[in-house]
Amino acid sequence: MDFKDTPQESAWRQEVRAFLNEALPAELRSDFEGEASMFGRGMAMRKWRASVAQKGWIAPHWPKKYGGAEMGVKDQFVMNEEFAEAEAPQVGGFGVMMIGPTLITHGSEELKERFIPGIVKGETIWCQGYSEPGAGSDVASLQTRAVRDGDDYVLNGQKIWTTGAQFADWMYMLARTDPDAPKHRGISMLLLDMKSPGVQVRPLTTMAGTQTFNEVFFDNVRVPVSNRVGEENRGWYVGATLLDFERSGIGNAVGVRKQLERLLRWSQREPEKLQFQTRKSLRLEFADRWIEAATARWLSYRVISMQANNEIPNAEASLTKLFMSELGQRISALALHMSGMRGLINDPKNPHSAMGGRTGMGYVSSVSSTIAGGTSEIQRNIVAQRGLGLPRA
Ligand SMILES: Cc1cc2nc3c(=O)[nH]c(=O)nc-3n(C[C@H](O)[C@H](O)[C@H](O)COP(=O)(O)OP(=O)(O)OC[C@H]3O[C@@H](n4cnc5c(N)ncnc54)[C@H](O)[C@@H]3O)c2cc1C
Repeated sequence: MDFKDTPQESAWRQEVRAFLNEALPAELRSDFEGEASMFGRGMAMRKWRASVAQKGWIAPHWPKKYGGAEMGVKDQFVMNEEFAEAEAPQVGGFGVMMIGPTLITHGSEELKERFIPGIVKGETIWCQGYSEPGAGSDVASLQTRAVRDGDDYVLNGQKIWTTGAQFADWMYMLARTDPDAPKHRGISMLLLDMKSPGVQVRPLTTMAGTQTFNEVFFDNVRVPVSNRVGEENRGWYVGATLLDFERSGIGNAVGVRKQLERLLRWSQREPEKLQFQTRKSLRLEFADRWIEAATARWLSYRVISMQANNEIPNAEASLTKLFMSELGQRISALALHMSGMRGLINDPKNPHSAMGGRTGMGYVSSVSSTIAGGTSEIQRNIVAQRGLGLPRA
């Protein structure tokens, strides 16, 4: 098996690299050493988004008709690798990754006309309203009710863990439209304007101190029936398509390697701060993570080659997500082992801190990717049942 780029892929890689060199604003580069205000970064992000949109690269895999570039799976992969290599921020979010492709597959022409342009230009910010306090891994148990009243549904209930709801313009959500039907058959997918009266967003603080996700409450919120995606009570199947899009987004193998390279550079730059540097175990741990980072890359190549052959990765996508997210956690643990007690100092200005004061919180944050998008246990179940053919637990 030859993993080297073909001449065509190599030329494409150079083109993407040249674009990144020219268009990625300095404030968004990983080696940027100046002080960037929130406003400065916001402006840089806007400029970056416009440059990527102009190329048609926000949704590279979409049909040209909808503003995409109709790029093949392999070209997309090369592009994603180069973006990750340059540590360029993602611009499409939930819109491009999930609701956009779902609308293209299941949405009415009217919904496509209303929503696709904003998604493909990266202008509309979306959030995902699936999980509820009693419905996470088993999302089909959701209880948020949507009751038909003329041309509207009236929504009551609650979502939780809604990433970015405090900034979102729209939410795609699942709500129960028939409480008497079997649980998978009484759900509809609705598009909700987050500015609708009766929507309340309460940010939740994670154990890393960040406010990335929220609780969202609905108190008699009116959603036009025309904002339903697909048929009434068939939303589970629409929502499942969307989850396929979520899971087939391959994990970031370049990202984990970059994380390790950063640790390596730090250990060379500040060797006096390195804990246990004389201990063999640290070197062995580093070598193990390096091997795993290479394995992560091959795993994502497998997912991508299946997609390129029009096969749908299922257990393979779960295996890759599982391995990649748990590897991220092991690398964060390595950072703590390297920095010892210094790793617990979160203040980057403290002279005793290590690695810019990010180690401790980095470790705590790394847990979340083993839960989001389906927990590690759920991924293991998928690998066991669909990959190995073992019976359900
Ligand atoms: C960073 C982050 C961002 C998120 N963003 C969003 C978002 O934007 N929108 C959204 O809707 N949701 C979001 N979520 C929620 C996420 O989808 C759920 O947390 C996840 O599906 C797990 O559900 P739960 O938290 O209810 O845990 P539960 O399903 O209650 O699980 C609790 C524990 O039981 C285990 N478990 C459950 N079922 C089984 C089983 N069958 N076999 C073995 N073990 C099992 C789980 O693995 C877990 O360890 C986000 C979560 C995180 C961490």
